[in-house]
Amino acid sequence: MRATSRGLRVASCGFLVLMLLAAGATYARTVDIGGARVETRMAGKVECVPLSTVAAALNGRYWRVDDRFVMVLPGDSVRPGREYVFRADSTCALCDSRRVTLPAAPVLDSSRLYLPVAALPDLFPSTSVPDLTTVDTARRGDTLIFTFGGQCRSGEKFVGFGDSRSSLEYRLVISARRDSGLGRQVALLSLTPPGMLKTVTLDSGPGAILSFVFRQPAAERLAVLTDRVELRVWPRPERAIKRLVLDPGHGGDDPGALGRRGTREKVVVLDVAQRLKKKLEKQGFEVILARDTDKFVSLAERSKCGNDRRADLFISIHANSAPNRAACGLETYFLSEAKTDWERAVAARENAVFDTGGSSAGLYAGGDVGLILADLAQNEYLVESSELAARIQEATVPYARIKDRGVRQANFYVLRNGFMPAVLVECGFLSNKSEEKLLRQPEHRERLAEGISRGIVEFAKLYSPKVNGSPSGGQNPKNPKSKS
Ligand SMILES: [Zn+2]
Repeated sequence: MRATSRGLRVASCGFLVLMLLAAGATYARTVDIGGARVETRMAGKVECVPLSTVAAALNGRYWRVDDRFVMVLPGDSVRPGREYVFRADSTCALCDSRRVTLPAAPVLDSSRLYLPVAALPDLFPSTSVPDLTTVDTARRGDTLIFTFGGQCRSGEKFVGFGDSRSSLEYRLVISARRDSGLGRQVALLSLTPPGMLKTVTLDSGPGAILSFVFRQPAAERLAVLTDRVELRVWPRPERAIKRLVLDPGHGGDDPGALGRRGTREKVVVLDVAQRLKKKLEKQGFEVILARDTDKFVSLAERSKCGNDRRADLFISIHANSAPNRAACGLETYFLSEAKTDWERAVAARENAVFDTGGSSAGLYAGGDVGLILADLAQNEYLVESSELAARIQEATVPYARIKDRGVRQANFYVLRNGFMPAVLVECGFLSNKSEEKLLRQPEHRERLAEGISRGIVEFAKLYSPKVNGSPSGGQNPKNPKSKS
């Protein structure tokens, strides 16, 4: 039997209030969900909110399918639409098909589902965003650290994302007002900019935009934390990117993925790589193909090729395959520990040639996994590889008009032993009927090659901005594109 706090509050007799206070003040609490105040109730020791109330507060719908509760929230100008799946007594829930672990399990009572309050801020981030009002600067070695702070109520989160125009200019989009204390501090900071910083300005907009201009090519890393936003910038090592290795996957006896119409990955990726080679050579790069005919080249030989020729970049070209025939799109990997089941599956497939007579058998013996991961953590090219992957993904998706499956991380053998930034591009799914059709078209392979080539050129520009024109891009500063 539920005694709702609303019912108790209506009976506002002094005696009852006293009894409530004695029973614990948490009973009549309310929480903020998407700007609406919603009353909570206790289910056992867990403070909860009915799913029906959450759905009503967020203009959503919900229904029950067997033991699952599905809730769909419409999108608006601030956030996209979302679908959630909850199950009573399970801390495992789905948000847009992604698994999320709740701090406490939803509770079923009289066929209604109750969500624990502790799970709400992560599940339904507040649309009201706190303003950043202060900035502190610190220097650690060559690294400049900007720490932005402000007040935020529980459930609110700071917002910040970066947009690197070139290695000389970086834009940070944050929630702040130009007339706030932050505006004055930024104005002071630009009078005596520290170290490698040349200027910094704050423009107001829907979100405020801080524009940093550097005296020398800089690398940056942004962290959006619960109580602050932290930006670190440091001088980018000087490097000229001239020589590249392109590595078309598979070959010879190893066909790679197979399409339903018999399209072989090894053929498609060799053609994309050859087209890409031509384009990059026109741009002045020296390009080495790890294989330029239909022959078998072991994974070890491929990565050795990059090292022996002292290449500056290593780009492996593949085509994807999945049991789910609906899967489609482009994904670019850099070497790291795989984070998802899908990433592990792709790495296992592309590494499989090992188990069938590759030259470095043993590396995949189970006990060595820890060692391999320790190795990866020390890979000094990790950050640069992730940047290269991002540039390729950002340039190729719109140009080849292909679904964006994002930059991903996995443990690919062919990327593992390189002494240079290295990425692996999965150009689309041969297991998908329409993508197989596209990958068979020379025009589509040409577009893929053009997209990848543009991404590589963008990446190379980070290291020699002077050669490649003005540091400020031609894009509308009010509409920066979001990175990650
Ligand atoms: Zn492959």
